[in-house]
Amino acid sequence: MRDPVLVPRLRPFASTVFAEMTALATRTGSVNLGQGFPDTDGPAGMLDAARQAIADGVNQYPPGPGRPELREAVAAHRQRYGTSFDPESEVLVTAGATEAITAALLGLTDADDEVILLAPYYDSYAAAVAMAGARRVVVSLAQSDGTFRLDLDAIRAAITPRTRAVVLNSPHNPTGTVFGRDELAGLAQLCVEHDLIAITDEVYEHLVFDAPSGREHIPLGTFPGMAERTVTISSAGKTFSCTGWKIGWACGTPEIVAAVRAAKQFLTFVSGGPFQVAVAHALNNELPWVERNRQALQRKRDRLSEGLADAGFGVLESSGTYFVCADVRPLGITDATELAWQLPERIGVAAVPVGSFTEGPEFDHLLRFAFCKQDDVLDEAIKRLRSL
Ligand SMILES: *Cc1c(COP(=O)(O)O)cnc(C)c1O
Repeated sequence: MRDPVLVPRLRPFASTVFAEMTALATRTGSVNLGQGFPDTDGPAGMLDAARQAIADGVNQYPPGPGRPELREAVAAHRQRYGTSFDPESEVLVTAGATEAITAALLGLTDADDEVILLAPYYDSYAAAVAMAGARRVVVSLAQSDGTFRLDLDAIRAAITPRTRAVVLNSPHNPTGTVFGRDELAGLAQLCVEHDLIAITDEVYEHLVFDAPSGREHIPLGTFPGMAERTVTISSAGKTFSCTGWKIGWACGTPEIVAAVRAAKQFLTFVSGGPFQVAVAHALNNELPWVERNRQALQRKRDRLSEGLADAGFGVLESSGTYFVCADVRPLGITDATELAWQLPERIGVAAVPVGSFTEGPEFDHLLRFAFCKQDDVLDEAIKRLRSL
């Protein structure tokens, strides 16, 4: 008999540092700045809309492509970037951005196709590439003076005749980088030249800081030649502080969306009927709440960054997302992973080592801290970090 054990293809993904760190944080009573979810609710009007939808009986399977009012709201929302998608054929509602990314890889890449991931990368990408039977090719971001850039030369060098797709996440988790127009234009040019599909993870599209002088979110799909080769993915979880609802979407040409839908319909088929109604309401009515939340998160970024600096870390610039990275070397420590596993026991704070978002050693000096927490939670973490 063959033992019923996990197949080799998925063995590298059997457990995640996020789950293990959260378990350790719970066991030690630590302040958990490891996992990236907010500890306050999203807009009250959106929560009411979900309750109302349940009371109204929106409790059966929604249509395969998603509820029409949500597809229309997503299409209207994307017009802020000057792009128009037909809600009928060019928008697909998914079980979060995670399912959209997985379905895009399953529907658009084949066995032995190569997919370029830019490290450090969100952990689901590598697992989804493996599920698709494709091969991941990892290219690290370039680092200088505590900032990160797309390494266009290294990406170009990694492209082979088998390269089919590249996954881009901006604003970027874990580094908090919002990639700029020139580097994005360079990546777009490489995609066009080498006929690559771009899968873009834009879940932090509204969480960009330091406006108006700071960065802006520029979707890769808006660059010349990219509309016909980009799967544009986002979701409600980060924008509206409802990470447990898992309502996401993928936009692209009718051909691209049909390919993603073909895979998606056999992953979950559909999900979250009443939440789809509520997220449509939120996209149409709650962007002022999103702006206030963005400003609050920017203040939280500053609060935690100052606290980390006071505690002796080298604090990197975060221009977006829920996260700030800290360099442990000024503390006289070289291995951030080792420190991350000690911190809960030693001082009662949990963070995630950036090294766990890739396989190479380039980011082994960095810890990722989440600042999407209430101020008193951040202050308690800062107090404990100062005792380091
Ligand atoms: C949180 C997160 C996701 C997951 O989004 P869901 O809509 O919850 O599936 C995807 N990508 C990145 C970079 C994230 O941080």
